Amino acid sequence: MTLSNFFSKNLFHPLWDLKDHSVRLQTLKALEGTQWMGRAELMRVQFARAQEIIRYAYENCAYYRASFDSAGVRPEDIRTGADIRRIPILTKKEIRENAGGLVSGRYRKEDLVSAKTGGSTGKSLTLYFDADCQEMRNAAAIRSDRWANWELGDKKAALWGNPPLADTLKKVLRNALVDRVIYLDTLNLNRKSMSDFVDIYKRYKPTVIFGHSHSLYIFAGFLRDNRISDLKPKGIISTSMMLMPHEREVIEEVFGCAVTNRYGCEEVGLISCECERHNGMHLNIDHLLVEFIKDDGAPAGEQEEGAIVVTDLINRGMPLIRYRIEDVGVYTERSCECGRGLPLMERVAGRVADFLLKKDGSMVAGVSLVERTLTAIKGLEQMQIVQDTVESITIKLVRGADFSEESALELSDEFRRVFGDIEIRIEYVDSIPQERSGKYRFSICRVPGV
Ligand SMILES: [Zn+2]
Repeated sequence: MTLSNFFSKNLFHPLWDLKDHSVRLQTLKALEGTQWMGRAELMRVQFARAQEIIRYAYENCAYYRASFDSAGVRPEDIRTGADIRRIPILTKKEIRENAGGLVSGRYRKEDLVSAKTGGSTGKSLTLYFDADCQEMRNAAAIRSDRWANWELGDKKAALWGNPPLADTLKKVLRNALVDRVIYLDTLNLNRKSMSDFVDIYKRYKPTVIFGHSHSLYIFAGFLRDNRISDLKPKGIISTSMMLMPHEREVIEEVFGCAVTNRYGCEEVGLISCECERHNGMHLNIDHLLVEFIKDDGAPAGEQEEGAIVVTDLINRGMPLIRYRIEDVGVYTERSCECGRGLPLMERVAGRVADFLLKKDGSMVAGVSLVERTLTAIKGLEQMQIVQDTVESITIKLVRGADFSEESALELSDEFRRVFGDIEIRIEYVDSIPQERSGKYRFSICRVPGV
């Protein structure tokens, strides 16, 4: 451990938490212990937490009271895991239509952290979180970062879109002392930006590289083609998108270390992550109850695909009970030889977003466009980007209630800001269906030769 890593871990991280009255490191300490508990004990605790949040939601959220009552179920009826399936599933549409009723009556909306999320399903949602929930989620992410050979206080390289701007002294200090991240902006990947990033990387010497699978793959390809072989992180964390087997192979070969695949979403945080054995993804059951459900509502069996339905056990600001994420996953009863009691899921299907192309040949990670458009502009309910040539882009758009001509103008302007002077067509549609495979394509590139 370098001296700066030591001080970041043991001094600046704790001090910053103290300043913010944050429960992050305290939660991390607890999670570090619970991961080694036996599975039966972990699941007992998980179920007790689920019963508690279900009761809380019924007592404090108008939406749940009405939906439980209409389904003829009361919190005290939930005595076993199977009983949970009596509670109606919560869809994105219901969240959009009942945002007020889902927020707990114990909070004022203005005291909660609100976030507009889009993921790569291309559907926008407004959610509310209590402050502790955010910090607890950060702790769960840190626990799993450590499975990828990263230690608290270590530096990271992130292949990510819209890097946060360090525009205040506080943000500059936070990044220098605590977060310690350098960014390669995935909205502008080209020879120069990647080559500059290699120079920064060599000076900064991060421990791990973090990013969308496809961006990691593109960057690995650039290094291989240019015979750059001295970027040797201790770990690679792939997140947000499906990691394809061929991508994993290339990334691992170029960087000479294992890829840690991870799955999560903005609505509930980290859902599952591979440990150092890379033998499936451990479910974060300290914070979530995850179900895999077939079309008829019955639970999917082991090795069988099922819709992923999650109950968030920690967000009391806006409880999400049996929320269908719209990804498909596969559960397994297998245990991992690492000895952690956290159960495993095999894989997840969903979340595909192609890279798009600028006229100068630079690549734009489709997934990175979400937070500049879908979640930033009013009135966009769902969208899909289709690029047929470098000169034109078609945006399929489902309009929300607060859509206006202004929204369309802002959307076109935002695309021109990223892609330059090209033709932007907006096609209004009623819905954007999932592909038959269960995948959602947020962006599709059909430019010949790509
Ligand atoms: Zn394991």
